[in-house]
Amino acid sequence: MELKKLGEFGLIEKIARSAGAGHPDVIKGIGDDAAVVRSSKTQCQLLTTDTLIEGIHFEPSHTTPFLLGKKCIAVNLSDIAAMGGTPVCFVVSLSIPPQTPYEFIHKLYQGMIQRARAFGVSLAGGDTTASKDRMVITITLLGTARTDRVIYRHGARAGDAIYVTGFLGDAALGLSLIKRRKALSRIQPLVKKHLDPMPRVAEGNRISRTRLASSMIDISDGLLADLRHILEQSQAGARIWLNRLPLSPQYRQHWQEAADDRYAPALCGGEDYELLFTVPPDKQKRVATLERACGIPVTCIGEITGKKYELKVLDEQNREVAYGKEGFTHF
Ligand code: ADP
Ligand code: MG
Repeated sequence: MELKKLGEFGLIEKIARSAGAGHPDVIKGIGDDAAVVRSSKTQCQLLTTDTLIEGIHFEPSHTTPFLLGKKCIAVNLSDIAAMGGTPVCFVVSLSIPPQTPYEFIHKLYQGMIQRARAFGVSLAGGDTTASKDRMVITITLLGTARTDRVIYRHGARAGDAIYVTGFLGDAALGLSLIKRRKALSRIQPLVKKHLDPMPRVAEGNRISRTRLASSMIDISDGLLADLRHILEQSQAGARIWLNRLPLSPQYRQHWQEAADDRYAPALCGGEDYELLFTVPPDKQKRVATLERACGIPVTCIGEITGKKYELKVLDEQNREVAYGKEGFTHF
């Protein structure tokens, strides 16, 4: 069967099934934002990897090598944040066309190291190969957590409220506007969100420390697509309300320049790198404290339901709204 037909997640499912039982210390293998591996009686390690490919994830003409380096680290930090963990170190696998100037790689590493250092994370190794025509950067990041405080995608229950950090859709909107060659100075915060995302590590950590969430994921492929992963892993359904989606002032100002639908970039656009988490009813009053401590918006956008895998998007009159493309997938 062609991979195109199977789809990215169909493929991952098949790989997961063929993996079978493994080492007893692997608490969680394929299926979450990071693998969870027991390292002592109470502690575990978190392991995640992400690849950025020239022409697919980035265009050298749209960004700078320094920002690209920062983003490579940020997207991996985001997966550790989504487990509630603390990042420790990373390794880099670089495939580079031979004609690449050294200065590009130097700036790329300066970006990686600056972003990593800001989170107390060190560069611990890697691998270098020549590639034919495009650059491929793979980062593998190791984190740590207390085993009993790791937050998985599978813990959401009917009645839990669904929250997101920050604003949704800014990165997707920023990318669309760059592609439409809009004057960058007018749309700076949206472009920044796309080129230089800030992973929510402190927020994820706090959510884990305070045992607030029943499940969590980072929004990398788009709100609907990533909420679906929570629903699949938790065997639950969800409803979300359009008028509750946190849209930034810049989003409200510019969405019409890039999208036909007001909510499409927030629902389906990728690369927000915000956290989506679910909170049981008895803990929901504590979210206000979290929001104050984090200093960014934390918004309730909907609730988990008992209807397995049913994801409803509702307008102000509680009418269901259909959204076709639910986010970014490969193949
Ligand atoms: P994220 O968007 O959080 O980075 P992905 O959608 O990339 O997560 O991956 C979902 C799960 O599938 C993760 O547990 C990841 O480790 C696993 N996975 C993805 N691709 C592969 C692969 N080629 N082989 C084995 N596991 C994979
Ligand atoms: Mg993730």
